[in-house]
Amino acid sequence: MATRTEIKLLVQSRDHRDLPTTHASITKVVWDSPERTKNALRTLGMMLTFTFLSIFIPLLHFILVPTLFIASFVLAMDKFGEKVRNEGGTGECPKCHQTFKVQPSKWGTRITNVCDHCPEDLEMILPESG
Ligand SMILES: [Zn+2]
Repeated sequence: MATRTEIKLLVQSRDHRDLPTTHASITKVVWDSPERTKNALRTLGMMLTFTFLSIFIPLLHFILVPTLFIASFVLAMDKFGEKVRNEGGTGECPKCHQTFKVQPSKWGTRITNVCDHCPEDLEMILPESG
């Protein structure tokens, strides 16, 4: 089963370190083993479908079929290994103080994003490890 929790983060500008930090909130999703297997099989099925469909593309199928076939298993293994993920959220930009959308990404202690309103490069830091 997937467990979703709301996480509060500190937002810091990577371009202007002197700006005061603001806050963001994201959804952290944690998958258990059966759910991770299901996610991996879904990814494998989707990629094998693309592999099968690429058979019908003339000339490109010489490259696409083997590449997508190998990528299917690599991506499925990567998906199986993914226990935690950032599902996205919202935050306040330290520069323009408008609300920006946090893009979903792989989980890490630092999550980077760009403000929707100004081209500010932002970094979100977990207040405590978790
Ligand atoms: Zn901004």
